[in-house]
Amino acid sequence: MGKAAIQHIPHLHDLYIAGRWQPATGGQQIQMIEPSTGEVIGTIACGTAGDIDRAVIAARNAFEKTWRLIAPAERGRMMARLAALILQNEDELTDIEARDTGKPLSQARRDIKAAARYFEFYAGACDKIHGEIIPYEPGYLAMVLREPLGVTGHILPWNYPAQQFGRTLGPALAAGNAVVLKPAEDACLSILRMTELSHEAGFPAGVINVVPGRGNGAGSALAGHAGIDFISFTGSPEVGTKIQELAAANHIGCTLELGGKSPQIIFEDADLDAALDCVVSGILQNTGQTCSASSRTLVHESILDEFTDKLTARFAKVSYGHHERDLQCGPLISAKQRDRVTSLTQAAIEDGAPVLFRVPEPDDLPEGGFYFAPIVFGPVNRNSNIARDEVFGPVLAVMSFKDEADAIALANGTDYGLIAAVWSKDSDRLIRVAREMRCGQVFMNNYGAGGGVELPFGGVKRSGHGREKGMEAINEFSAVKTIVHKHG
Ligand code: NAD
Repeated sequence: MGKAAIQHIPHLHDLYIAGRWQPATGGQQIQMIEPSTGEVIGTIACGTAGDIDRAVIAARNAFEKTWRLIAPAERGRMMARLAALILQNEDELTDIEARDTGKPLSQARRDIKAAARYFEFYAGACDKIHGEIIPYEPGYLAMVLREPLGVTGHILPWNYPAQQFGRTLGPALAAGNAVVLKPAEDACLSILRMTELSHEAGFPAGVINVVPGRGNGAGSALAGHAGIDFISFTGSPEVGTKIQELAAANHIGCTLELGGKSPQIIFEDADLDAALDCVVSGILQNTGQTCSASSRTLVHESILDEFTDKLTARFAKVSYGHHERDLQCGPLISAKQRDRVTSLTQAAIEDGAPVLFRVPEPDDLPEGGFYFAPIVFGPVNRNSNIARDEVFGPVLAVMSFKDEADAIALANGTDYGLIAAVWSKDSDRLIRVAREMRCGQVFMNNYGAGGGVELPFGGVKRSGHGREKGMEAINEFSAVKTIVHKHG
């Protein structure tokens, strides 16, 4: 399909506000660059604060006049139609997502299916969001209603545009909110195409508004807008802090999903081959640009040598290249991200971190692409930067632990707390360790980076707060109201 797929998005250059595609105020555009080749593949609109203002007004009108008055089952039908349209257009969306992000084709396809799955899941949830009756004093009926917040703002990162579109809009729309979305300037073409599909699915004008633009333009205008009732953000901890400050100024809530340094803990009795599968895929998925990438492997000291030998043998088979070759890894998203990952890796080498293995650079890498050879460090000093800081690339740090208490201390010993995995055949130990983890998800004898539409997901500490996915996300995008009726 190649370039034709990108040109096929009829409204590539516009914003979507109040059910109409329109140019950004001032007509500014942002170039979209294909990570696999470094070529410009199109331009998108660069929305302004004025555009955000119009989008928020449109969403408010839609919320008050249509969306909150529509029967929940009907809201669900529209979302189910969108899910079906995404699946009908799966090939085209896969091609768009792969070209825009550099994801190998089969990873891009999984993301498109996941986007559809989010809308399916939340379509089914629309008419199951109910309140409760509270036993209170005699002569009173106390009811708790769960209501939408109103207009919700959504700021997305570039690493999983398609999935994030479903993950954040699904629960917000199901709960009955109208939405304003600011996708990432580095990758959002699948979002623009799915927004077109949402129009086809019949959502009333203004329920979904999409304003691409820069972080310090449209992004900060949205997070700081007095007309929104909630802001959902995924991205870096630094920007997360700014979002929370802006939300605080308007006394609204926010969810922040800010990445991690997630560990997989391998005990001496673990099924090593099964663990190795997950250790390798957990760091290579999306070329390590995954908030829940497992970038730390903690191994019991008695099996460290055996484990690292096997890990090295696995990495020796890893290949990376152009997204159309569908290898384990594609390029990183941008030159900026490649330079960031390169400098953090270089700093680790200069800091004395031993390199266990680096995937050799293939001869056939397209010139101009943002490639980075996956690398494994180990055993690293547990207090070093490479053991503690998020890199957001295919960079794995291996370290050893003495016993269960040491493993727990090491796993919890970073500023982050997003997800973790524990590998052992001792089920008591699995439960003990899982319960001690300071993070939002723990996998026992498996690892689910980014997976599980049904599973509540989110972090603690520098990984952020609030929960996405599953029915829990609906709680974030709604509020309870208590009504007390005194009767005779
Ligand atoms: P970022 O946090 O700068 O950008 C994420 C989103 O926030 C984008 O849509 C961006 O336009 C917007 N944004 C940026 N500044 C803003 C502001 N002042 N106000 C409102 N919105 C703003 O992330 P990045 O620069 O794209 O990547 C930098 C690092 O962040 C990465 O290397 C990685 O470590 C981390 N990151 C994490 C995730 C994640 O899934 N948690 C995703 C992307 C990046």
